[in-house]
Amino acid sequence: MSLRSRLTTAFLVVVLGPVLVGAVFVAAIMSHLAESRETALADSAVTTVDTALGTVCERIQASAAAVALNHRGDDEIDATEMAKLVVGREAVDGVVFTELETAGTTTAPGVGATAPEGAWIDCGGETAPAADLPIVALGSQVTVENGDGTTAAFTAFRTVDQEFLTTIAGAADAALILQDGREQQLRAGGIEAGSWATTDALLPLRVGTASTDFTLMYWTLAAVVAASAICAMALAAWLSRSTTRPLVELSAAAERVADGDLDARVPVHGSDEVAQLALSFNRMTARTQTYVQALTASRDQMRGQLGWLGQTLTATLDLDRILEVILDTAMVTTNAEAGLVMLADVGDADQLLQRAGEGELGITEPASVRLGEGIIGSIAASGAPAHGRIVDGHFGDRRRSPTEPDARTIVAVPFNGRGVPEPEHPGSRRAAPYDEDGAETAPEGGVLGVLVLYNRVAALDFEAADVETLKTFAGQAAVAVENVLLHRQVQRLSLTDPLTGLWNYRFMQTSLRREAERARRYQRPSALLAIDLDRFKAVNDTYGHPIGDQVLVELSRRITGQIREVDLAFRHGGEEFTVLLPETDATGGIAVAERLGRAVADRPFKVSDTEGGLELRVTVSVGIAILGEHADTAAGILAAADEALYAAKAAGRDTCRVATT
Ligand code: GH3
Ligand code: MG
Ligand code: MG
Repeated sequence: MSLRSRLTTAFLVVVLGPVLVGAVFVAAIMSHLAESRETALADSAVTTVDTALGTVCERIQASAAAVALNHRGDDEIDATEMAKLVVGREAVDGVVFTELETAGTTTAPGVGATAPEGAWIDCGGETAPAADLPIVALGSQVTVENGDGTTAAFTAFRTVDQEFLTTIAGAADAALILQDGREQQLRAGGIEAGSWATTDALLPLRVGTASTDFTLMYWTLAAVVAASAICAMALAAWLSRSTTRPLVELSAAAERVADGDLDARVPVHGSDEVAQLALSFNRMTARTQTYVQALTASRDQMRGQLGWLGQTLTATLDLDRILEVILDTAMVTTNAEAGLVMLADVGDADQLLQRAGEGELGITEPASVRLGEGIIGSIAASGAPAHGRIVDGHFGDRRRSPTEPDARTIVAVPFNGRGVPEPEHPGSRRAAPYDEDGAETAPEGGVLGVLVLYNRVAALDFEAADVETLKTFAGQAAVAVENVLLHRQVQRLSLTDPLTGLWNYRFMQTSLRREAERARRYQRPSALLAIDLDRFKAVNDTYGHPIGDQVLVELSRRITGQIREVDLAFRHGGEEFTVLLPETDATGGIAVAERLGRAVADRPFKVSDTEGGLELRVTVSVGIAILGEHADTAAGILAAADEALYAAKAAGRDTCRVATT
């Protein structure tokens, strides 16, 4: 059963129930009233009939008495005159004179109508009428003693016939039926009698009165009930329709929303509870739509950002660029206003330096902080992510250092490297190929860096979920740093000599070509030293190859110990070394060569084998050639230096020679 039919039914029950009960009640009262009215009418008619008959009888009795009073025995004329008078006045129909002594002898002819034959009713009620005869008159007899001792009787009467009954019936406004012994009973009165009463006060009569007709009123009542029913049904239909219509609209809209159509809105009628519900529904749907749109936009933005991040990660080994994109993506994801990526310094693993920064950080210099110091330093040292508010420069019990950004809220996630070891080579940093700004090494097992975000937009605090998100990005940052370091290490390994760690023949070629180009362009000199151990074959032959190798390692240390940061040392053959000295002329080259020769010859080489330690004295010969002076190309300068080296050998070894032009 639908809500609408339930409402209609309830309304009809509530409204029509009382109407029907009231109608039944009214009908019952009307019927009761009709009954009492009929009874009252019948009673009144009976009383009127009795009174009328009583009056008639009183007149009859009075007439009889009046006639008798005027009888003086000797003068009959007076009685007759009186009789004529009373008949003339229509008090009675007639008067009969009788001489009682001579039983029934009429002494005088009587006056008025002829006395009818049949049963007479005595108005005094002293003589009972003959039961088997029809009642024909009402009468009254008065006896008078004559002077001679006889008794005269005067009987006044009124004929009971159709006319008489009609008169009585007219007075009582009723129908009358005389119930006497005759077969065809006398009937009078034009009333259509509905109810009958009986009286036999003087005459045995049935008195009929008109019955009260309530039919019209019943019909009226029925019509009123029917009209109310129709009105109630119409009202109920309208009411239930108007009540349920907003609900139907609401349910249809809810259905649309459930199907994903967030444009659905409900029309609002009036300001009742359902209207409030519709308003709330519309507001709720609008809010949801806004949220969904915001979410979709943010998802699209995130998708773009992640695509960009993926592209950057696969397409470049530029660490700073990668860190920048990771930071950007992390900021977009967590709605941060500013952010930093700090990495452990290469030379000092306890120092964190800013490698990427976005947003207004409020510091002029790139951020830097020592591990354990300030907010970032302590979070990085703890190794555990943290988030919260910065109040008066304090994050919990950690105090902000002046080199850190001043912000309202912070979330920071430290990340560790697996530790990518720096390749062992005596040249260390200054000899590394692509490290113009200093080479990176991942601190072994320590903190690699920390990803820090500041000031979530709309003054909201960062949440635990943001930490989880940032962990992902911090992990990516760690992987990126490691990848770049690994890549650099692989690059370095492919360009260095595994025994000594010096640059190999391949990198020497590259460096010589680059330097030749530079010297040509800027017209600046560069010196190349070709270094060869003297009689090294003998060392190998005497002590064995492994000892010879130790000599080579020690020699490379002594070479790198004698050159500047900008100089490059190469082992390009078995026991053949070269040193490239940018911005150096022949004089400078000779100075370095001599210094180098002394550094080798002055102190014995300490080596060791299975039998113990040894001290060997070795010397080197050095050939010197100058770019731009002896040759312009890589091959040319190498050949010139070699030539000079042979000259040094020829000159008796442990010396140096400059190439000849
Ligand atoms: P000099 O140069 O003075 O003319 O005499 P030398 O004996 O040093 O002759 P040369 O320069 O031709 O040296 C070649 C020797 O260097 C041969 C080999 O025994 C040694 N040698 C070359 N490469 C290596 C190496 O990788 N390890 C060791 N232990 N010895 C090597
Ligand atoms: Mg040699
Ligand atoms: Mg040699």
